[in-house]
Amino acid sequence: MRMETPGERIVAHVDMDAFYVAVEVLDDPRLRGKAVVVGGSPAGSRGVVCSASYEARAFGVRSAMPAITAKKLCPGAVFLPVRGSRYSEMSSRIHALFGRFTPRVQPISIDEAFLDLSGFGGFEGAVREARFLKKTILETLGLTASVGVASNKSVAKIASDLEKPDGFVVVPPGTERDFLDPLPVRRIWGVGPKAGASLAELGIRTVGQLREFDRDTLLRRFGKWGNQLYLLCRGIDDRDIEIPEDAGAGSVSAQSTFHRDLDLWEDLEEQLLQLSERVSRAARAKGLAGRTVTLRARYPDFRTVTRNRTLASPTRSTDVLYRTAAELLRVLSRPGDRFRLLGVGLSRLTDRILVQRGLFEEEGETVGERIDRVMDQARDRIGSEALVRGRLLKAARRRRERRARRGGDDTVRHHE
Ligand SMILES: [Mg+2]
Repeated sequence: MRMETPGERIVAHVDMDAFYVAVEVLDDPRLRGKAVVVGGSPAGSRGVVCSASYEARAFGVRSAMPAITAKKLCPGAVFLPVRGSRYSEMSSRIHALFGRFTPRVQPISIDEAFLDLSGFGGFEGAVREARFLKKTILETLGLTASVGVASNKSVAKIASDLEKPDGFVVVPPGTERDFLDPLPVRRIWGVGPKAGASLAELGIRTVGQLREFDRDTLLRRFGKWGNQLYLLCRGIDDRDIEIPEDAGAGSVSAQSTFHRDLDLWEDLEEQLLQLSERVSRAARAKGLAGRTVTLRARYPDFRTVTRNRTLASPTRSTDVLYRTAAELLRVLSRPGDRFRLLGVGLSRLTDRILVQRGLFEEEGETVGERIDRVMDQARDRIGSEALVRGRLLKAARRRRERRARRGGDDTVRHHE
């Protein structure tokens, strides 16, 4: 389920380097540093190249090339059969790891995905997060990935490809054109050999040259796709991260990254209450309830832990969600622990709501449900900023008092 993402969009494109070959090297370290080709018979006489190590690429070996051609270019290469199930297994682990960073993932292929990193403390926070992801992939799976971080999918994809293997390319918002202009036009996502040839006919080799053509000319020449070209060469791409139905519909979550690490229990509680409020409200708006509550907590050193609790019956109550998340945090944290991020999620969603009835049930509604409904309605009328639960209000007041005492600054938060 999509949550509104306030503020700028930040996207990371993550692409594993020579994935099939990398898995083969992982399983047989003797292959490291050698020219390795996956696909084709052991003698390299039949079949097609599926993946080639960078050492083999240095000889001109490329994917989709007949193995026999590869053999001619690089006679010393080790040819290995495709082990599809092994690659799928590693692919699942990679995508599961992406999911630990953000629920907003768009898988592109077996070894590639877009991740929405808008909720990690602005662009700088997203870059830190992406670096940490790259490091985690290497440490936990033993594989290298190339990563691009940018304000949209198209630029992020170009960035991840630019310094392969083991690349990490960041394009800060506002610098997209400077980044794109000198690049060959073939770098633009969707410009294949055919389109590249017709652009060359117009004398267009770089993205900067393409940018000199007006929209009408591109529309006349390329039809509807001309408009896309017009936008992409300007670094404009409004396409959203597309989360697969089964993944997106299965959970609702929200998280906050703090500019200042939090250690006071009342501050942490306040954050959990706000997050629970957003998550349960999103669930209520969709007529859904969920049984599994997830708490995500990140320490200042980026170590991230996740805890789940599955309830006896589905809930969409702010209070139940909040109390469960707070309990999970209480169990995992030790005195003096500081946190830089908290997240709350609700999964195992259902639209069949069997909420346990309480003692003070009125008109088929529990007290908690009635509070939630009244709060939702009030927010719809007067806007969510204007209405804060009494508890939040108290915590905010305490924080203001503390701040006034020591003259510190506010806890600025970024939401996903
Ligand atoms: Mg790849």
